[in-house]
Amino acid sequence: MAIGRVLQQEIQEAVEALRAGELVAFPTETVYGLGANANNPDAVRKIFRIKGRPSTHPVIVHIDHPRYLQRWVREMTPEAKKLADAFWPGPLTLVAKRAPAVNDVITGGQDTVAIRVPNHPVAQQLLNAFGGGIAAPSANRYGHVSPTRAEHVREEFGDEVKWVLDGGDCKVGLESTIISCLADGPRVLRPGSISFSQLKAVVPTIQMGPNPSAPRVPGSTSRHYSPTTPVNVVPSRRLETVMNEFTANHEKVAVLAQRPPGTANPFMTWINAGIRPDVYARNLYANLRTLDKASAKIILVEEVPEGEKWDAVRDRLRRSASAENIVTYDQDIAAWVADFGEEGGPT
Ligand code: AMP
Ligand code: MG
Repeated sequence: MAIGRVLQQEIQEAVEALRAGELVAFPTETVYGLGANANNPDAVRKIFRIKGRPSTHPVIVHIDHPRYLQRWVREMTPEAKKLADAFWPGPLTLVAKRAPAVNDVITGGQDTVAIRVPNHPVAQQLLNAFGGGIAAPSANRYGHVSPTRAEHVREEFGDEVKWVLDGGDCKVGLESTIISCLADGPRVLRPGSISFSQLKAVVPTIQMGPNPSAPRVPGSTSRHYSPTTPVNVVPSRRLETVMNEFTANHEKVAVLAQRPPGTANPFMTWINAGIRPDVYARNLYANLRTLDKASAKIILVEEVPEGEKWDAVRDRLRRSASAENIVTYDQDIAAWVADFGEEGGPT
């Protein structure tokens, strides 16, 4: 594995680019971000333009240290402070009331702002040298798979993004845990690598999921993180059967599984992503990109185990799955439930 090395000179040039209103893609421990000077609305607008992202989807502001919080946030609840103390720098984003100067283009016109202190040496160096906030969503086209390597960013944008700092592979590989800390109490808006129990140990009142009576969080739209090839999540025991239905017709199938294939099949591309949730998560987007290039009719993903360690992976898989195929799959479920009964079935 090539570890990217970012030189001081590159950081300096990236800082100048940010100051000139240009975009800079940079590594964080979660995924690569596409950054702009958060104080320059025109620069932030470029992010939306190049990603094809709707302007109502707010972006996260990254800072190198909580001492700069008050520039962005006007009120940190006691829970927000505890979470920040426990998990920053790290893969945690907090949503809080915004400071008056924060531009609408960042917040999508809301009275709240999302903020994170990332824990990646290159992100830290960049933020530190820049000396301000960097607004950054993931460095991919809207709705597509997030990048976890510099080459993924180049695949997404080619020459459209001139500055791509290469920090090697992202260690976490899934987007940050987002927690809103507002009057309705702390709530997990997007699960990430920090488990619900870890969060609960710090803030016992935390709840999973957005407030049902609050406005929808952009980015939690159901279709997101998607390859071009349709994705379908399949129960483990049905994986080979569903695959064979395609390959029997000489249709290529790409599979993301947690075990090796039972038999060889010339029409399949099979990735065994293993049974460790952290490793699975780290490689998930790179694996989906690889499978997307297999010119397959469909990507079949073996359903991941129950339990909170898999919450974030399960969430991303659900969102990467294509709606049309879920319909087929629901009928399929009905068929096998009828065959085997709800609990049982061959092992
Ligand atoms: P990404 O799309 O990967 O950049 O992740 C950014 C996500 O952060 C958005 O899509 C929202 O889900 C979330 N977010 C950013 N700002 C806010 C905010 N003010 N309130 C709620 N969620 C936010
Ligand atoms: Mg994104």
